[in-house]
Amino acid sequence: MASFRRTLSPAFHDRHHHNGVVSISSPSHKLFSPNNSKYTFPLQSLFTRVAGAFSRRYGRKSQFRKTLFRCLLFFFVGFLLGMFPFSHVAVDEDIKITPPRATINNNIKAQLPPEDVTGFTIDPLSLTVENHNSEAVTNFRFDFVPRKQLIVVTPTYNRAFQAYFLNRLGQVLRLVPPPVLWIVVEMYPASTETAELLRKTGVMYRHLGCTKSYTDVKDREVHQRNTALEHIENHRLNGIVYFADDDNIYSLELFETMRHISGFGTWPVAMLAPSKNKVILEGPVCNGSQVIGWHTNETSKKFRRFHVDMSGYAFNSTTLWDPKTWRRPTSNPIRQLDTVKEGFQETTFIEQLVEDESHMEGSPPGCSKVMNWHLHLDSHNVVYPKGWLLPKNLDAVIPAK
Ligand code: UDP
Ligand code: MN
Repeated sequence: MASFRRTLSPAFHDRHHHNGVVSISSPSHKLFSPNNSKYTFPLQSLFTRVAGAFSRRYGRKSQFRKTLFRCLLFFFVGFLLGMFPFSHVAVDEDIKITPPRATINNNIKAQLPPEDVTGFTIDPLSLTVENHNSEAVTNFRFDFVPRKQLIVVTPTYNRAFQAYFLNRLGQVLRLVPPPVLWIVVEMYPASTETAELLRKTGVMYRHLGCTKSYTDVKDREVHQRNTALEHIENHRLNGIVYFADDDNIYSLELFETMRHISGFGTWPVAMLAPSKNKVILEGPVCNGSQVIGWHTNETSKKFRRFHVDMSGYAFNSTTLWDPKTWRRPTSNPIRQLDTVKEGFQETTFIEQLVEDESHMEGSPPGCSKVMNWHLHLDSHNVVYPKGWLLPKNLDAVIPAK
């Protein structure tokens, strides 16, 4: 620890000690008087002579001489004491005084190009960021590209491959640049297993339960999608709405393309023929962005107005809650219908959104890319443990060699 030690000056012998406190009394005027031989010391005679010579030369009075003498004396004594190693501070070797450490926020580092990061130094004492490359930083644009929000609606239900399908879709959505809102709808009550899975995907999501009674519902997924539509409408969510079934296969390019849709966009979807031995296409034939025809294979569905798969279109959410902007004929809520025959679900829904092909955008222009696949591979006969948990470990355990 620091200690302060002071050597005693030979000039101060007249110390008085009271209650252990050392008091140093100031020297009297007589102390350095030239007539007081008791306190005379060699320096004094020197000063006397210097002062005497000075006063003689300028013819000053004795009072002036005394004052000058004292000034010079005190100055000289002070000067000598200052030169002398009069005191010292003992510093403990173990104590190292280091300046506080400063770190650059990782986000700032991530946002800056490498050459700009090297252009920064941090002054550890003042903690101010010094920029050696100010022009480059001023011109640097942060990644604030405004992107349209994608609202992905997925109906799902408990079955053997549910966890596999939801995880797979969740991982794809995680790779889509934000903002992406994933609305996952189950029949009420929504399961805790699905909730936990959604939490772990890292995607922004809403987990809803469809309250339609189980018994009177024919096409549950239709009502589950309607629950999501109601939610979007009530909360006036803004974005491009896309119905993504949990079991389909999606490319990242699909979600990128969707962001270019302004009102209603459609594209061809690859699917397996019912025989499962060939791939067929369903969706628009385009001239640029203009829809001029349809790919279709199933004769049973040839009376549909629009030949689009549920995963082959997306639309602006404002169509749902802002009918004036889109000049919708009625302000009735846009919903999927459970009264239509199989295969007509998509067309009856799209007919509420757009009048005809002239209001559709072929996406991407030319519609010549397959960006997602609807393969109907879901197996309904596979058993799976309830709650996706095995009740106990496997019986056979093979020890490691
Ligand atoms: N689905 C659902 N509840 C059901 C049946 C289906 O939530 O009772 C969901 C399913 O998880 C999928 C979508 O609805 O996301 C379409 O179902 P499916 O794959 O069976 O239909 P398909 O592909 O044959 O049209
Ligand atoms: Mn399916």
